[in-house]
Amino acid sequence: MSDAHREMWERLNLDLTAHDGLLEVLGKFYGDIYMSQDNRLKGMEYMDFVLSEVHGLRIKELQEAKAQGRKVVGTFCVFVPEELTLAADAVQVGLCAGAEAGSDLAEELVPRNTCALIKSFIGFKLARLCPYLESSDLVVGETTCDGKKKAYEAFADHAPLYVMEVPQTKSVSARELWRDEVLRYMAQVEKLTGVTITAERLRTAIKTVNDRRRALQRLTALRSADPAPISGRDALLINQISFYDDPHRFTYKINELCDELELRVQAGQGVAPVGTPRLMLSGCPMAVPNWKLPYVIESSGAVIVGEESCIGTRNTRDLVDESGETVAEMVDALVDRYMKIDCACFTPNTDRQDNVASMAQTLKADGVINYSLMFCQPYAHEAMKLEHFLEGTVPTMSLETDYSMEDVEQLKTRIEAFVEMVS
Ligand code: SF4
Ligand code: SF4
Repeated sequence: MSDAHREMWERLNLDLTAHDGLLEVLGKFYGDIYMSQDNRLKGMEYMDFVLSEVHGLRIKELQEAKAQGRKVVGTFCVFVPEELTLAADAVQVGLCAGAEAGSDLAEELVPRNTCALIKSFIGFKLARLCPYLESSDLVVGETTCDGKKKAYEAFADHAPLYVMEVPQTKSVSARELWRDEVLRYMAQVEKLTGVTITAERLRTAIKTVNDRRRALQRLTALRSADPAPISGRDALLINQISFYDDPHRFTYKINELCDELELRVQAGQGVAPVGTPRLMLSGCPMAVPNWKLPYVIESSGAVIVGEESCIGTRNTRDLVDESGETVAEMVDALVDRYMKIDCACFTPNTDRQDNVASMAQTLKADGVINYSLMFCQPYAHEAMKLEHFLEGTVPTMSLETDYSMEDVEQLKTRIEAFVEMVS
């Protein structure tokens, strides 16, 4: 990334030396993992560009939006309804939390046995490394696991934090609770921006976010082809970028990329030969730049054909019903759509098992890899249940890891053995 944005970073009070270090590592990592791939789609040039400017041009756009009076809302989870943020004329960005940075500082606020994702978002804040966090007028947290819930209490002393309460069951009363929370968030974002959410504004925002989901659904469907027309790494990157790029531009670019993919599928071309073992990932979200596992899998002779993850189909599978006419009807449609998210925070969470099984079948996966971050109770519990549930249908293995590079060789050995078994 160029140095043209230093002044902006300085204004955002980033620690420039540490930030330089981060960008250097990120650039090298990206080169090794992404630019080394063969047969990449032309459409990925846009993604490469966006990523090369992740702390540059996109941040400049956010600063320009702020100069025009718009607000920026940062989020950590797919439960925060972007439709409401957009309807209030604010910009929503996902705060990534996928790198090991500032862990020592984070351990002053949260216990050592905390998952890497939580440590990462706290570490990025305390080490002043993230221009998205520093640009956020509001950071929205949610009570999706105990680790996050408690971490937000400490984080609130360092950022303008607002927390949404996510229910733990899918009962009628849980839906009511969630509806109240959606309305409470709507009032909060209206207060932040001074914009009243009208039916017209909300209808447009619902369409914008649904259009992005439809484009990503199109991408998911095209990945059922054999040979696989796009690598799992590239598809993951696309999903990661969907959280912070401008939604209109991003949707346009993904549809363009899908046109290219369709041609590839028709021509029988792919990123790996026909018959390459096809694996699916399932589990914890993989925030930027958490590319370790996909890289290890795809350098072990397999190709990833789908991600049952919040940075994947859990975020794109369900659309918001677009037939509502009043704000109340549209809010109900939002509540229903978000209640379908099968996060491991729910008990029971059997829909997720069904969704994984049906995804594996549609994408013709030869195996499923359950991915949990170390110390993540909800997904580690579900990994055991899922393995049991999928027994006899599709081979499954569970892996626990974090953001460090220490276990790469160990992961490689286990994954190679699994790939061999499903081949
Ligand atoms: S795993 Fe659960 S808490 Fe995490 S981003 Fe997904 S829905 Fe949100
Ligand atoms: S990865 Fe697990 S422990 Fe970490 S924030 Fe998500 S649900 Fe909580």
